[in-house]
Amino acid sequence: MKVFKFGGASVNSVERIRNLASIVTQNTGQPLVIIISAMGKTTNALEKVVAAFHAGRKEEALALFEQIKNQHLTTSKYLLVTRFNECLARLTDLFTEVEWLLHDKPVREFDYYYDQVVCIGELLSTCIVSSYLTETGIPNEWLDVRDLLRTDNNFRDAGIDWEISSARILQKLSSVISHPSSIFLTQGFIGATEDNESTTLGREGSDYTAAVFANILDAESLSIWKDVEGVMNADPRLFPDAQLISELSYTEVIEMAFYGAQVIHPKTIKPLQNKQIPLLVKCFLDPSLPGTLIHTRNDKHLPPIIIIKNNQVILHLHSRDFSFVGDEPMRSLYELFSLHKVRPNLIQTGAIGLQVCLDDHPEKIGMLAATASNIFDVQVEKQLSLLTIRHYTEEIVNRLCEGKNKVLVQETKDTLQIVYY
Ligand code: ASP
Ligand code: MG
Repeated sequence: MKVFKFGGASVNSVERIRNLASIVTQNTGQPLVIIISAMGKTTNALEKVVAAFHAGRKEEALALFEQIKNQHLTTSKYLLVTRFNECLARLTDLFTEVEWLLHDKPVREFDYYYDQVVCIGELLSTCIVSSYLTETGIPNEWLDVRDLLRTDNNFRDAGIDWEISSARILQKLSSVISHPSSIFLTQGFIGATEDNESTTLGREGSDYTAAVFANILDAESLSIWKDVEGVMNADPRLFPDAQLISELSYTEVIEMAFYGAQVIHPKTIKPLQNKQIPLLVKCFLDPSLPGTLIHTRNDKHLPPIIIIKNNQVILHLHSRDFSFVGDEPMRSLYELFSLHKVRPNLIQTGAIGLQVCLDDHPEKIGMLAATASNIFDVQVEKQLSLLTIRHYTEEIVNRLCEGKNKVLVQETKDTLQIVYY
């Protein structure tokens, strides 16, 4: 059996959904599990709904939600004929679920409401796609992934309970073995707690869901369908000479994701590597292109891989009384990172001070800087960028550093990182 994952861009219009169906048609004859994200920018739009709701602006929240409803209704209307009414009934049920909630007063924490509202994006998109596949003669079973993926209640970044999820997925999908042409369709990015409260797995988490399914089902492969040719060595919008990498190791991809390459969600690789399941990054705009194959291999002759993260800050932390930055302050600092849910992109330590480079989420950084000032003298430097080059050469470093003001440089044998403005 194979697992396919289609992202938001592959379902954001009538044409794209038709295109998805044609890709599925070309791959029938084998059991298939299809994981789908919310359409286009729906998740961003839903985030605005929750923000308005939680800030007490109920009318605004409802008006914003109305726009999301209309987009989904319009797509369904243009896409579906015989299955329109059936789909409409299901969408209406989902809309009502959210509207009920929006009519309440927020009494719980923001992250809880975030997950109850935002999860609807994937439920809507999968209902529409499922109806369309059925209408075009591709029988499929729509599954509510919240009945299968059990998570903890760490809302917005929920952790999966592998034992319960595996048992449920295997029980539900065991029929696949006996029906070689069965197609299951379900949502990425979402799950549910033991109390049946919806959860989400972190932004862009659908890749991860697909990898979890592939792992549990011992899939032959996972294909992630994207709007790019495959994995490139740099962002082609910034580097017109970016090149496609046709084969990569799990290790290289996990490193790339860690440094901020927006190829694949960082959590995706582990479930695949653990069972040696190959990952294909394919282009839904032209399925005949070979894409990128990610599996166990020794990477040879990789080109320099360039990753740029903008919107960085550096916290300059200095001990107050000229004492060494020893175990105790370091331990407290790591506790603060976990308390504020931030992950440093780079840390440079010295005798009486250290520098920490982080993504700039202004509220989080503000709070982190404030609490860190109980231990250190703190200075915050903003509007920086972080350049990472894997497999760097002197030539590429010179080319990319020209005219930049370096704030911090770190290098290992494989990786060079520069914070600059
Ligand atoms: N729809 C979610 C997001 O936009 C999950 C995903 O696309 O993977 O973050
Ligand atoms: Mg997405």
